Amino acid sequence: MVKHTIQIFGRIKPTKKTTTVYSVDNEEQTGASLEFVVPRDLADGFVNNKRECYKFRFQKVFDQAVKQEEIFENIAKPVADSVLAGYNGTIFAYGQTGSGKTFTVTGGAERYSDRGIIPRTLSYLFERFSQDSSMVYNTHISYLEIYNEMGYDLLDSRHEASRLEDLPKVMIMEDPDQNIHLRNLSLQPSANEEEALNLLFLGDTNRMIAETPMNQASTRSHCVFTVHLCRREPGSATLRRSKLHLVDLAGSDRVSKTGLNGQLLTEAKYINLSLHYLEQVIIALSEKNRSHIPYRNSMLTSVLRDSLGGNCMTTMIATMAVDKRNLDESISTCRFAQRVALIKNEAILNEELDPALQIARLKREIQSLKEELAMLTGEQRDDQLTVEEIQKLEELVKTFLDDRDPDVTLSLGPDMRKIQYCFSLLRMMIMDKHGGGNGRSDGSPAETVREEVIQDSYHSAAEVTKLKTMLKQRDNEISILVKMLKKEKKRAQDAGYRSTDTISADHGGRAMQYMKRGPQLSMGKQEAFETFIRDHEDHLAIEDNKNLLKQRSAEARRLGEQLNEARNRINELKKKLEMQRRQRAAHGVMGNHTEAEEEVDPVEENLCKHIEHEKKAYKSTIGCLKALRTEIEHLQLLLERAKVKLQKDFHKWWSQEEASSVQESESEAATRCRAGSPSGTLQPSSPGTPGFG
Ligand code: ADP
Ligand code: MG
Repeated sequence: MVKHTIQIFGRIKPTKKTTTVYSVDNEEQTGASLEFVVPRDLADGFVNNKRECYKFRFQKVFDQAVKQEEIFENIAKPVADSVLAGYNGTIFAYGQTGSGKTFTVTGGAERYSDRGIIPRTLSYLFERFSQDSSMVYNTHISYLEIYNEMGYDLLDSRHEASRLEDLPKVMIMEDPDQNIHLRNLSLQPSANEEEALNLLFLGDTNRMIAETPMNQASTRSHCVFTVHLCRREPGSATLRRSKLHLVDLAGSDRVSKTGLNGQLLTEAKYINLSLHYLEQVIIALSEKNRSHIPYRNSMLTSVLRDSLGGNCMTTMIATMAVDKRNLDESISTCRFAQRVALIKNEAILNEELDPALQIARLKREIQSLKEELAMLTGEQRDDQLTVEEIQKLEELVKTFLDDRDPDVTLSLGPDMRKIQYCFSLLRMMIMDKHGGGNGRSDGSPAETVREEVIQDSYHSAAEVTKLKTMLKQRDNEISILVKMLKKEKKRAQDAGYRSTDTISADHGGRAMQYMKRGPQLSMGKQEAFETFIRDHEDHLAIEDNKNLLKQRSAEARRLGEQLNEARNRINELKKKLEMQRRQRAAHGVMGNHTEAEEEVDPVEENLCKHIEHEKKAYKSTIGCLKALRTEIEHLQLLLERAKVKLQKDFHKWWSQEEASSVQESESEAATRCRAGSPSGTLQPSSPGTPGFG
């Protein structure tokens, strides 16, 4: 168990105006501090005892110029590491609307370097999986949006067809152990980084589409992107499950009772009710001796229950804008962060046993215990084995010894007499084999020399035998090749439309390809193999599959490019939509905003439709690409199998040819002897092999 308080970090959004109202000190030994100095004109008109200086402590404060990479390295990477180790982790961004929460969590839409914590973390996790081959990792993604106390599955495919209100709501269920389960929230498997990023992209697009001027979802809703990780050692029954929540909270903007007239809004209320409940939970947690924590008051606090004062390593990022008009909100954000920093969490390693594997292991154990028991308490037997039993055992030992399978076992059951008998049988056999070795050498130098001479002659004799065998093999090869050549010539005469040269060159290359990972062949055999491939009955099918594989790979590349283009188009449209909404909002502030808000803006509607349309195309391309990948993998397997079959058939055919060549040369030699002729001519013969022709 790891006890720790929630880590708090501050991030300041870049601002165009130079502002001197704050200062950052990251050099302090106990962490960092952020100080605001409220200028006179802001506090103006307010009474004398107004404080002007506000100082807050953080683990670290990231000033305006800090890049996304540094944010990931400092904040997200340590959390990702503990999630990899099997602990739960949460990172949440808190701050007023426009302060950079989404930029920090998800990233900016334009530049690759602006990608935020989620894509960087996904990339990091999948990279780590690929580096660690000793473990099997399994990843699922879920993406939840909470708006107005309702939960929506951002990865629900029905988002396309239905309005937000018509989608099934995500419900909170609590089991007797007070564990939270989310019903109707899908867990999407993601095998690699690309799939996980696609899910993020689709979820974000769904979120944007569902938004209307009436429901300002992007500022008023919370988004919880969760990576569910399962890690196990192959063959082991224990597994570790951990969850990483990456949370983009609703804007923490507050309203004042008195309005914005230069006064600091210390008593203001949240616009968002669930942030109010979040604050209550945090206050309760930071107070000593509070037994009741009001988690159940809102969906957000229920979902984040473990992240707040529970089994989780939690980190908060307070995002702030420091231009003068946002100072009060930034100070509220810091105050909230200070309370959060008091919360203590206890993260535990989430290790559990896989029941199925555990059962299999226990079954094996029971079986071996049963055998042991039978051995110890087994029924009374005669001391001696019967003649039949002995005969049977001898047969068993013989088959055991004759079996070429390295994994062969000798199963004798729980009978010690049989086990002992077999051991003594084996012992006898071994002694027999080494038997007769009674004559010992005296170890004298003369003896040693004699031994060396014997050894040498033994070696050269072995060498000669080896060479003789090789010679014989080559003879066989030559005679098989001559036969093939004859057949080849005849074929070329029959079908004159293709020159033999091009064919063999073509197939030589191909044969090499097939043999890339196969055993090394001698030159003659290699040539025979090349011709064999061309004549093989599977040849056409293999060629077809290879061409298909080429086509499919090209298609996959093309689809990949299409996917990229569609993604860019969607991003472009999203930008336009956001611009349009901003303009509308500004228009609403200027006056007659009730009408403006309620009317449906045709431009906006059109953009939404367009995005919807593009997204459908995007998803269908992903579908095609997935299907194509499956096909490509399948084709690769087919080719691999064909290769193995080809090699097997070839070796079979080759050994048959060899056998028949040996026979022929023997009978020729006999004929020669009888006729006294010095050399014979090869008889034309049909190879007559299966799968040839
Ligand atoms: P929030 O999600 O808190 O409402 P956003 O993340 O949408 O705020 O940020 C508002 C705008 O400011 C966006 O256009 C975003 O790209 C920009 N922005 C925020 N933080 C940064 C930053 N650190 N660097 C550059 N641009 C930023
Ligand atoms: Mg946002």
